[in-house]
Amino acid sequence: MAVTMHYSVSAKDVLNHPDFGRRLQMMKKAGVTSLWLYGYFYGRHESAPETLALARQRLLNEGFETGVLSLPVGHPGNSLDPTNPDLELALPPEWRYRVCADGKTEYYCACVEPEMIRSSAEAAKLYAQIGFTRHFFDDDLRMGGWGNEVRGCFCDDCIRSFTEKTGLHLTRNDIAQACAGKAGMEDVCAAWIRFNCEKITSFMRETRVPGMQSGIMVMHNGDERHGISITDIKQAVPDCMFRVGELHFDDQSFCSASGQRSLQSSVQKHLALIGDHPAFSESTVFPANALSPENLIRKIRLERQLGLKNIFLMSGTWFLSEPYWKALAEADDLFEE
Ligand SMILES: [Zn+2]
Repeated sequence: MAVTMHYSVSAKDVLNHPDFGRRLQMMKKAGVTSLWLYGYFYGRHESAPETLALARQRLLNEGFETGVLSLPVGHPGNSLDPTNPDLELALPPEWRYRVCADGKTEYYCACVEPEMIRSSAEAAKLYAQIGFTRHFFDDDLRMGGWGNEVRGCFCDDCIRSFTEKTGLHLTRNDIAQACAGKAGMEDVCAAWIRFNCEKITSFMRETRVPGMQSGIMVMHNGDERHGISITDIKQAVPDCMFRVGELHFDDQSFCSASGQRSLQSSVQKHLALIGDHPAFSESTVFPANALSPENLIRKIRLERQLGLKNIFLMSGTWFLSEPYWKALAEADDLFEE
């Protein structure tokens, strides 16, 4: 299989950005053949469905493959573009925010519960009706932030539902202690991990639409501790696509020896679990300009060496600037078998 280069853009920009014609040419020269349009962002359409349909048609006319990219849960803080204070980050009033082990609300992340799944599934159906055949969910789809701790949503409803399901009468603090490794509470911790993994797996199951392939982007080193069971998701969604987790989106972390090791081990760990399913890279520059064009090329070379054939360029909602596209256009070796 040949190498495919992917990128994500807003449908609004496809239709209205004065420079988009030139952007299209830069992306084409850089070898991008697959463009993903921003879809459902934590409870609202990033662009109206009519706009998405028109933007998709424009990209098809330009010879691109298209997909839709949703952010189902939302990231903590403004992880889309910290330079843009106008981004809407709040969740719809009928959704619940995720709660951390210490009882604090995690802004702006959603608890994965039936109402948010229902509304995300409805959006997915709409995208399939527009004609999209591929739908990726960004790596905010998890039960907690990056790190070695066992995470989960500790909101009152989640704790009630966990105690009902397990028959264990536990407080938030009890569960937090089990997650922190308290002796004698290993079974509670294991049950909590299963409970949280089932939330993400059921999100993937419920938002799957016939005729549209779904995918999940996995966070760097993301696994069951964060509610992500690649094995369970493969069972629930047999044609699921996966994006590996890489992090190291800036020069400093990417260039350090420990960063290189950490990036490689996360990619290898995820690829081993993903198996034969389609696997995509996390070729991200974030925040704007944080990873130089030269280092982005180095990162993609590394991803290629590790066996990735779908290179997914990402940069939050900021459009990669011209030097990146030039560097990509000049790096012919990225496309070699
Ligand atoms: Zn919750």
